[in-house]
Amino acid sequence: MSRFLNEKYASLEAYTPGEQPRDKKYIKLNTNESPFPPSDGVLAALNEREVSDLRLYPDPECRVLREKLGALFGYGAEHVFVSNGSDDILNFAFMAFCENGVLFPDISYGFYKVYAELHGVPYETVPLTEEFRVAPEDYIGKNQNIVIANPNAPTGLCLSLSEIEQIVSSNPDRLVLIDEAYVDFGGESAIPLTKRYDNLLVVRTFSKSGSLAGGRLGFAVGNEGLIADLEKIKYSTNPYSINRLTLLAGEKTVDDREYYRENCRIIAETRDDTRDALRKMGFYVTDSKANFLFASSDKIDGETLYKALREKGILVRYFGKGRIRNFNRISIGTRADMDALLKAVEEILGGDFLGGNFF
Ligand code: PMP
Repeated sequence: MSRFLNEKYASLEAYTPGEQPRDKKYIKLNTNESPFPPSDGVLAALNEREVSDLRLYPDPECRVLREKLGALFGYGAEHVFVSNGSDDILNFAFMAFCENGVLFPDISYGFYKVYAELHGVPYETVPLTEEFRVAPEDYIGKNQNIVIANPNAPTGLCLSLSEIEQIVSSNPDRLVLIDEAYVDFGGESAIPLTKRYDNLLVVRTFSKSGSLAGGRLGFAVGNEGLIADLEKIKYSTNPYSINRLTLLAGEKTVDDREYYRENCRIIAETRDDTRDALRKMGFYVTDSKANFLFASSDKIDGETLYKALREKGILVRYFGKGRIRNFNRISIGTRADMDALLKAVEEILGGDFLGGNFF
C-alpha cells in the first residue's frame, strides 16, 4: 500500500478471482466459462476491417445491441443497460441505489460484499438454510435493498419465479436486484416481471452461456428510470466501457441465439450426468441448475481433493471457508473434460491419497 491511498480503502478486502495459472495446460473447471467457442457469426464479424476500426471510439449508447436485446423481451433500448461485464453493472447498482443498505445471502457471489464495502453500503447477510437454499420468507417486507443470485452461486440452487415475485412485491419501495448470470442453464428468468414491478432490476451476462467471458459484456433489464440512473453512473465514469469488438460480438451473439441455446442444453445434460456419477461415488451434490456443480465428500476433504485434482492438471474452485469448507465448485466443461474429471476423482479416492486421517 502506498502512502497516497485514500484511507477509506485501506482495509478494503478485494475480490479474489479464480486462479489462471500459466505453468502448464490445465482442464479449467474453476471459473464457469463456456467450453464452447463463440458462434461462427461472431468469429466472422471480428475481421480485419473491424480490428482496424479500433482507431475509432465505440458507440457510447450501444444502440444496436440494446435494441436487439430489448426486442427479445418486448422492450425498446431504454429498458436495457449494457456495460463491461455484469460485474461492472453490479458495481454501478451498489453505487447508485444502495446507500440505505443491502441484504444478500451469506453464501453467494463474493463480490456483493466487496461492492458494499467499496461504496460504504451497510450490508447484512441472511443465512442459507441447512440445505443451502435461499428461504424467500427471509426477504419479505425488508428495510434494505435485496440482491440475490438466481441460480445462486456457488450452490447452483434456484428460486422459482413465484418466489422471486413474492420478494419483489413485498418490498415495493426497495430495489430487488436479481443476478441471473447462470439462468440460461436451467433457471427461469425474472425479466418478464420487470413489466409489472418498477423495483426489479435483472442483471445478466454474456460470459457464461454466451461464450464471451474474455469479451466482458453484461446487461441489465428494468424500468426506464433505473436504466437512466445506471447510464448516468456509466457516463460519469467511462462512457466507452464496451469496446468496439465486444459490442459487435454481443450483437452477433444475439443473432445466433440458436447456437447458444443448443450449447446450454448440452452443458445442462453434461452437468446432470456428471452430478449423477459423482453421487454414485458417494458425493453430496446440490441440484444445480447452473453450469457448475457444488460437491463434497466425506471420504476426502475439499482442500485435499482440490489439490489432488490440480496435481493431475484439473482446476476446480475451492473457497475454503465456513460451512462450505468441504465443498468444491466444478464448472461444466466438455464431455471429455468431465470424463477426465470423474476418472481423476476415482483415482484419487481409490488410490493411496493421504489427505484424510487414516490412522
Ligand atoms: N454474478 C455471478 C453470480 C457470477 O458468478 C459472476 C462471475 N464471476 C458474475 C456475476 C460476473 O460475471 P461477468 O462480470 O463476467 O459478467
